[in-house]
Amino acid sequence: MNKVLNEAISIFDDVVEIRRDIHSHPEQGNKEFRTSGIIKKKLSEYGVDEILSPTETGVIGVIKGKKGEGKTVGLRCDMDALPVEEETNLPFSSQVKGEMHACGHDMHMAMMLGNARILCKMRDDFAGTVKLIFEPSEEIQPGGARKIIDSGMVDDVDAFFGLHVNPTKNDVGKICLRKGSSATSADEVYIKVHGKSGHGSTPHKANDAILAACQLNVLLGQIQSRNIDPLETCILTVNVIEGGIKSNVIADTCNLIATIRAYTQETREIAIQKIHDICRGVEKISGCKVEEDIRLGYDAMINDSRLVDIISDYYKKEIGPDFYKKMEEPFGGSEDFSFFSTKTGKPAVLMFLSAGHVKGMPVSTLHSPNCTFDEEAMKYGMAAMTNAALAILEK
Ligand SMILES: [Zn+2]
Ligand SMILES: [Zn+2]
Repeated sequence: MNKVLNEAISIFDDVVEIRRDIHSHPEQGNKEFRTSGIIKKKLSEYGVDEILSPTETGVIGVIKGKKGEGKTVGLRCDMDALPVEEETNLPFSSQVKGEMHACGHDMHMAMMLGNARILCKMRDDFAGTVKLIFEPSEEIQPGGARKIIDSGMVDDVDAFFGLHVNPTKNDVGKICLRKGSSATSADEVYIKVHGKSGHGSTPHKANDAILAACQLNVLLGQIQSRNIDPLETCILTVNVIEGGIKSNVIADTCNLIATIRAYTQETREIAIQKIHDICRGVEKISGCKVEEDIRLGYDAMINDSRLVDIISDYYKKEIGPDFYKKMEEPFGGSEDFSFFSTKTGKPAVLMFLSAGHVKGMPVSTLHSPNCTFDEEAMKYGMAAMTNAALAILEK
């Protein structure tokens, strides 16, 4: 059996214990103080070479291989919980009211500590350095990745790997890999329409903000069908429209809030430009003033094809072809792990781990109060991340 997978299996009980402890004590973005303390304690117990604090709660563990100088690989996990009230009734359920690790970041951290322990033990087998990056506040914009990058502490990293668990019906422990687009960008659009109020019986003397807002909604919906390549995906939905006070008063203001998601930067830029164009056009025909505020969120995640080849060849050789599978479709959500590539210019791969669910419970989705995982999957998650590092660093 693969040496790393073997090690992962041998430390599995401890990893489960850590995961359950973190799960029952969730902490939301940038408040991961207890969690951060546990991580630092465990990292020093395992004997990492250095423990860095890139942000108040973020942690980086540094492990140097004994085969000499070499490349630096960054393995990243996220740390924060969500404002969700847990409903799983599992014995290690959240002890904090209204907060839950409903996105599996507890699994990510437990696995990353497992990676630290395995890599410390395997120092003789590789050259170069592994940086284990524990990123706070992934769930809250602007995300913790940017702060970690700004700290300068990952400037020397040559390749980044991230992993996200996914609740599944079966296929527990399968690593899902994809070249190119693997998660969407996510931006928010806030539009304020300022019209001119008037009596409901004399619309010609007013500028109807609601009518303009409705036209905006219809035109924004056409971006996908008329401006984006039919083979590309762009999701643009207006999810809030608020305005008006009474049946016989023409509304002078109306607000819209929308989300845009795209799998490539090009598609995202076309959509943003068209939003501006549509706002100017509606402004002209309605006589209303339209103010749009586009708040850029996370970038689209583009997996580096060469890195995907390197690690999948290594997995095939070291563990066997059934260890991973090609992911046909990208993940529909967004992840600020993308910044580790777009902001640094370094190649990165975000992989997904089919993480099952607790037997006897329904398969749930990430962020749901009933989200559960099969902890067995963590053995394979550790094997995937540690082997990815070794694929780059082994000599
Ligand atoms: Zn999430
Ligand atoms: Zn997540």
